[in-house]
Amino acid sequence: APVIWWVRQDLRLGDNAALAAAAATGAPVLPVFVFDDASAGAWAPGGASRWWLHHSLVALADALRSRGLPLVLRRGDSRQLIPAIVEEVGAQAVFAGRMYEPWARERDKAVAAALAARGVRIEGARTALLFEPWDIRTRTGGSYGVYTPFSRACFNAAPPPQPKPAPARLIPPNHVPASDRLEAWRLLPSKPDWAGGLQTTWRPGEAGAAARLERFLREALPRYDTLRNRPDVPGTSGLSPYLHWGEISPSEVWHSALAAGAAHAVPTESFLKELIWREFSYHLLWHRPEMPHVPLKPIFSRFPWRNDPVALKAWQRGRTGYPIVDAGMRELWHTGWMHNRVRMITASFLIKHLLIPWQEGEAWFWDTLVDADLAANSASWQWVAGCGADAAPYFRIFNPVLQGEKFDPQGAYVRRWVPELARLPAALIHRPWEASPLVLAEAGVVLGRTYPLPIVEHAEARARALAALEAISAEKGA
Ligand code: FAD
Repeated sequence: APVIWWVRQDLRLGDNAALAAAAATGAPVLPVFVFDDASAGAWAPGGASRWWLHHSLVALADALRSRGLPLVLRRGDSRQLIPAIVEEVGAQAVFAGRMYEPWARERDKAVAAALAARGVRIEGARTALLFEPWDIRTRTGGSYGVYTPFSRACFNAAPPPQPKPAPARLIPPNHVPASDRLEAWRLLPSKPDWAGGLQTTWRPGEAGAAARLERFLREALPRYDTLRNRPDVPGTSGLSPYLHWGEISPSEVWHSALAAGAAHAVPTESFLKELIWREFSYHLLWHRPEMPHVPLKPIFSRFPWRNDPVALKAWQRGRTGYPIVDAGMRELWHTGWMHNRVRMITASFLIKHLLIPWQEGEAWFWDTLVDADLAANSASWQWVAGCGADAAPYFRIFNPVLQGEKFDPQGAYVRRWVPELARLPAALIHRPWEASPLVLAEAGVVLGRTYPLPIVEHAEARARALAALEAISAEKGA
């Protein structure tokens, strides 16, 4: 009898403990992917994620085909579909990479119960993380709420296992159940097709992930410490969507970085620490499953947020009048990705300058990021808002002009994404409203026409945000 490899957020053959365990049974392996957007509810893949998923499934199906295996595609509720396929093929077991999202945990419990009732076991494997969220514990056995001690515990734990290659031998199943046509799921945008920028930026799939990693280790890792905060240079790995979809394993990234660091005598600690931020986000989501919706610091549920659809739209479209914010939002719209420093600046602007609830920003990022990840996205939004477990203090309000000047000193990033400002000199590109009429005219800029005036004034917005915070802190029980 065959075994089923239930493919989820582990769209790879290499270093995949779930596939390896399936292959190790010596039985034929039937790979099945269920597009279960119903179970995910509000957290079904957004537009950019759906684009990515389509191409990633094409890549996985190709890789499996070259090994003689099919990829069965089904759309619907896995609680019915997985047991039904198990029955149809008479499978003896199901192997799956673990997922940690609250909705996925619920679903997996239900599937396991349905299979147990048929005498079929389901075996979970760690495919997405370096450490299981329950394995990293405080001295008293609890979970962590603060990053630094969490990261120390990770570095002190048994190191993540060395990555293993794809199984040498995979036996194809005799009987292959009916499969949907991927095109029928309509994951790609058509009218309008906004995915042109995604198409030129990314190559989803395992081979694209390996190529990214290789280039990062060669070109950017040696300069990561100094350049990782600079959105104007390719100073980070760009591996986030590949890690989210499991097209590369975190162990592979971890150990390759260590090996490259040792070979070329370059420091790797700050890069490894970013991978640990990812682990920390999952740790938080596991122990605080309400994190995507509810502020982890309860006092923030009384925060006087504003409802301002016009300002929200200006932020989404990159038309706030603050060049670094607009550059970031347009990079996001065009490529499905945004540099981490600029994610922090744009998120801070939405929350603190506009007083718009962080959940609105979280939802927009969810729809537009190719690396949209429930754990990392919600943990990061709460962190910026100051309401997370381990959060930036609320009173730290980024000045978008100074942030731009510090991290995009020549204005190259703004020139790329806000071309209507491209001809302004570097000294004024982050503060165009201070340019003289002559300079503006020479650069072809008409503020309020070719580029918006700031939708809020920084000093006023800052004072308003601090007053709002004071209001909730002053209340009893804060
Ligand atoms: P690198 O610097 O090369 O880092 C390597 C890997 O470490 C990343 O690929 C990522 O998997 C992980 N990582 C790095 N920084 C963080 C972090 N702060 N938190 C968690 N993991 C991290 N990251 C996502 O993967 N998905 C999201 O939906 C997401 N939403 C975010 C929302 C906001 C408001 C902010 C401020 C950050 C968000 N991040 C998110 C974290 C971070 O911005 C991205 O992981 C990073 O920019 C990805 O680029 P990279 O792969 O080049 O990173």
